[in-house]
Amino acid sequence: MDVYTHSEMLPAHYYPAFKKYKHFVGNYGNAWWQQLREFESFNGPVLFTTNCIVPPRKEEIRKRIFTTGATGYPGCTHIEGDEEGRKDFSEIIELAKTRPPPAEIEKGTIVGGFAHEQVFALADQIVEAVRSGSIKKFFVMAGCDGRMNSRRYYTDFASELPEDNVILTAGCAKYRYNKLDLGDIGGIPRVLDAGQCNDSYSLALIILKLKEIFGLEDINELPIVYNISRYEQKAVIVLLALLYLGVKNIQLGPTLPAFLSPNVAKVLVEKFGITSIGTVAEDPERFLGA
Ligand code: SF4
Repeated sequence: MDVYTHSEMLPAHYYPAFKKYKHFVGNYGNAWWQQLREFESFNGPVLFTTNCIVPPRKEEIRKRIFTTGATGYPGCTHIEGDEEGRKDFSEIIELAKTRPPPAEIEKGTIVGGFAHEQVFALADQIVEAVRSGSIKKFFVMAGCDGRMNSRRYYTDFASELPEDNVILTAGCAKYRYNKLDLGDIGGIPRVLDAGQCNDSYSLALIILKLKEIFGLEDINELPIVYNISRYEQKAVIVLLALLYLGVKNIQLGPTLPAFLSPNVAKVLVEKFGITSIGTVAEDPERFLGA
């Protein structure tokens, strides 16, 4: 019986410790918002361990969705731990044995696992590439994905970026460009994926490390551009962390958060230079000229 991840669980494949599980075979599908369609063709049971569950429309699918921990949805079976916290997932395994295999929707390989320790291990190579000019800029394109057509901007933006630029990503935003063949710069992949949205912490450590290595006073002197896609509260916390670190001129998209009062929006724009996305025809050039 094969086990797949979906959406934000993709980074599980980057952990060497899981390589010993031969039946842990791959990731099925894309960002969270595609689950209605993808769970249908997946055919098997699905276990939700974290948020971003989209209410299943069909009863057949609801019956093969299981939740645990903080997640839950009416009509889906919730797996609780016993008094020692042990969880019994045998019902999911038994159901999987009775189900048809997933319908193949795509195949390929994704390179990932660039949390801070892995990037620190490559630090000499990266610094040399920046000093020699092989890497011109880093684009932090972390954040969420969502179903709005306007998010196509991030796919087009990544495709249009000149080949001497590297994308640092974390979170569902990566599904907009992690299956493009963007290549590498002297062996350094052009998309460095730190993992889940929670791994944005790693991106902050990488930024601080680069500041230290280059001996800079101001984080904004680094050759880093921030083009963040937001959707919900966690991405807003990432934004607040970046502001706390003193990062300026962050571009947020596809729109500025609607919950910002006019006064707060004014402070963010005036004090931190936050803007919303423009067009793919203009933005890469604007950033690279900045
Ligand atoms: S908070 Fe954003 S990046 Fe994180 S799982 Fe939800 S949609 Fe994905």
